[in-house]
Amino acid sequence: MTAPELVITGAQLWDPAPSAATAVAIAGDRITVVGSDATISALAGPLTVRLDAAGAAVLPGFHDAHIHALAGGLALLGCDLETEHSLAGYARLIRAAAAEPTPWVVGSGWFGDVFPGGLPTRELLDELVPDRPAVLTSHDAHGVWVNTAALELAGLTDATPDPPAGRIVRDAAGRATGMLLDSAGELVTRLAPPRAAADMRRALLAAQELLFSLGITSWHDAILGEYLTLPDSLPSYRDTIASGALTARVTGSLWWPPAAGPEYLPEILARVAAARSAGVAVSSVKIMQDGICENCTAALIEPYTGVSPEARGDSVIAPSDLAEIVTGIDAAGLSVHFHGVGDRAVRECLDAVAAARARNGAGARHQIAHLDLVDPADVLRFAELGVTANLQPLWARNDQEIVERKLPLLGPGRATQHFPFGSLHRAGAHLAMGSDWPVTSPDPLWGLHTACTRTAPAGDLHARNAAARVPALPAERLDPETAIRAYTLGAAEISGTAAHAGRIAAGALADLVLLTGPIGAPEAFDGVRVARTLLGGATVYAADARPAPPGR
Ligand SMILES: [Zn+2]
Repeated sequence: MTAPELVITGAQLWDPAPSAATAVAIAGDRITVVGSDATISALAGPLTVRLDAAGAAVLPGFHDAHIHALAGGLALLGCDLETEHSLAGYARLIRAAAAEPTPWVVGSGWFGDVFPGGLPTRELLDELVPDRPAVLTSHDAHGVWVNTAALELAGLTDATPDPPAGRIVRDAAGRATGMLLDSAGELVTRLAPPRAAADMRRALLAAQELLFSLGITSWHDAILGEYLTLPDSLPSYRDTIASGALTARVTGSLWWPPAAGPEYLPEILARVAAARSAGVAVSSVKIMQDGICENCTAALIEPYTGVSPEARGDSVIAPSDLAEIVTGIDAAGLSVHFHGVGDRAVRECLDAVAAARARNGAGARHQIAHLDLVDPADVLRFAELGVTANLQPLWARNDQEIVERKLPLLGPGRATQHFPFGSLHRAGAHLAMGSDWPVTSPDPLWGLHTACTRTAPAGDLHARNAAARVPALPAERLDPETAIRAYTLGAAEISGTAAHAGRIAAGALADLVLLTGPIGAPEAFDGVRVARTLLGGATVYAADARPAPPGR
């Protein structure tokens, strides 16, 4: 047996469960042997590189199960309001962007709780950008803040009716305020100058660099297709994968157009086949069944609290159509990646999977992302139907936006069902985790911290309030082992890559993350950082070689 190229000893190994072994040997892009320090050290030859973890944790590379990497990269390179959490900070960044000689001012990343009343207005933006269109997408991508020049260019007036699945926000006098929700945002963003392919490539590679620095070696892009202000990332993935520049292991969900009915099934299957033959590993179809609670577009069983008796949020796809669509996708052996935020949307997604199981028998493992509210009657159905709960763990804390804008709309009863991670786990649900970046930070250590403590990480500038330091529904905390599994192997299992990723075992790909210390108590995630990231045995990030890129 030839000597390994690299050995790591002295590690607290997670496979992803805590392992009795402390060392690994790596040859080529694979882990060849896992064992004790003595066993692995004995394999080393004169040319073997030796790494001593000195007791620190070594995990399978993180796998983000729900991310928008191109949008995240574009945000990093553009007017990135995510780096501030105040009106003064936003004004400074927008002024700086407006000083550039661009035909439009385009940016993203603002939080509603920064503004009086929860939403920004065009008057504020007119002051900063008076001379040309400005369009700034919210951090959750469900709202677009525009100035008067942008409204005028789009021909939007106070009298323009709301488009399907969208809303033009108006004040008490009926005047358009400059806030466009969901599909209404497209009325303006479709007029913006298209981004150059070279900028998209640069953005995707900037995203990859940041994600490597956070220990992410695999990710699942949750939307391949055009959605709101986000450009279609499929051509950028195709080109960067083909050129060899994108080396992270990427799978994705092909976007189901929300207005399409079951007659679209043959076309989506043809698009999946075309994307795959172009080198993009499509593993599922993305179906958006509702919006978000903060603007009352999430679909709820009972009405929103304090709004109106009719305000329950719309189902994007009629439940009978959804059942037929999911049955068709399932019959083709493909998985469905649902967006389900409200308890009614979650129930409709589960009902659609139940219809597919009844018709097709056991089939692909489907998944529902977000799960802000799950009715207690539906918690057991995840395990029964083989549906994965795709969690965005960093959301499960009482930051100011959640306390001020979201929980009041849910009311005290439903607030006890908010992000029921622990309940889902105890009910046997299969779990995966992802960040939904750029909606929120892509840092898995932050997500794991919040999954296990239900508090905000100390460094998160979007959660500076006292309530974010107190565990939100402590019974819904996960243990570190369960959370690590969800952010590694659990995610690989729903992306079809578990045969070679998500493990620290002989024969698995040498995709590893070395931390700066061990993981013990649930609070430990917020105290450690990534020391080194290995992709197929090669170092793609080392903290001591260069600092982490700016961002989170
Ligand atoms: Zn998303």
